[in-house]
Amino acid sequence: MVLTAYGRSSGFCLDPIEKKPLFHFYPGSCALSFGTAGCNLGCRFCQNWDITKAGSMNGLGDQTPPERIAAAAVRLGCRSVAFTYNDPVVFAEYAMNVADACHRVGLAAVAVTAGYMTDECRVEFYGHMDAANVDLKGFTEDFYRRNCAGQLAPVLATLRHLHHNTNVWLEVTTLLIPGENDSDGELENASDWFAAQLGPDVPWHFTAFHPDYKMLDKPGTSSMTLSRACDIARSKGIRYVYTGNTRDLAENSTWCPQCGQRLIGRVWHDVVEWNLSENSCNRCRCRIPGHFDPLPGRWGNRSVRICVA
Ligand code: SF4
Repeated sequence: MVLTAYGRSSGFCLDPIEKKPLFHFYPGSCALSFGTAGCNLGCRFCQNWDITKAGSMNGLGDQTPPERIAAAAVRLGCRSVAFTYNDPVVFAEYAMNVADACHRVGLAAVAVTAGYMTDECRVEFYGHMDAANVDLKGFTEDFYRRNCAGQLAPVLATLRHLHHNTNVWLEVTTLLIPGENDSDGELENASDWFAAQLGPDVPWHFTAFHPDYKMLDKPGTSSMTLSRACDIARSKGIRYVYTGNTRDLAENSTWCPQCGQRLIGRVWHDVVEWNLSENSCNRCRCRIPGHFDPLPGRWGNRSVRICVA
């Protein structure tokens, strides 16, 4: 089998790491982000369907060697390179080679993925990654079959593997689609599984749905639904729960689980407040899980398309 998309990106962009979303992995830093074309899932709500469903390779750029991407990321002041927009599982060989090139120059490699992969691929792929945001798109096999042309079980296996068998920093995202995956019962079940299998310290992002691709008949997610999901997750002991695709200073921010101080204030993707000192709350010294520089980056909300020549 030959990866015909090897070396061919659908475009490069400088994004805030918070956009992936990763909230506990070098906050405020910039991630050089790219994808290719195609996907191994077929989500009816895909927001990147123009590249994941691309019928040809015509929209992809010319060959960009891994070393050139890593060098550009260093030159542009990035902290990491992120494989995103489509699922890096479908360009795994390229992503792993870019990750290795990043490590040689001191950069981190980030996978933004649905986590739908085989046991063999999972071990090899994540052996090259430093952080991942994995979608948990729903919590029933029926949801994955009807809406994603996939299965839930391999995704749960990926989450368990990352948490128990690797040092990859893990955060999880669930897009809440009204009437599809947002019932109290499903959120309760998902939260019970999350707390039991991943523990209290893996951040969980609940993001708002907007009609797209083949799912144009559903309304957007209300802020009330997002808050309800957060409350259910927190009631199970999950400490770092966030909302996404919404401007909510309280729900976008990181709070100290011990003294209640706001540790990292966020407005959209911008870090506007910082009360961490050596990975700990600067008031009560409670240690916060994640990877943090002494001070946050200052990249802000910008997303800038670039040419990696
Ligand atoms: S896994 Fe992500 S990129 Fe792939 S089809 Fe689903 S939403 Fe789109």
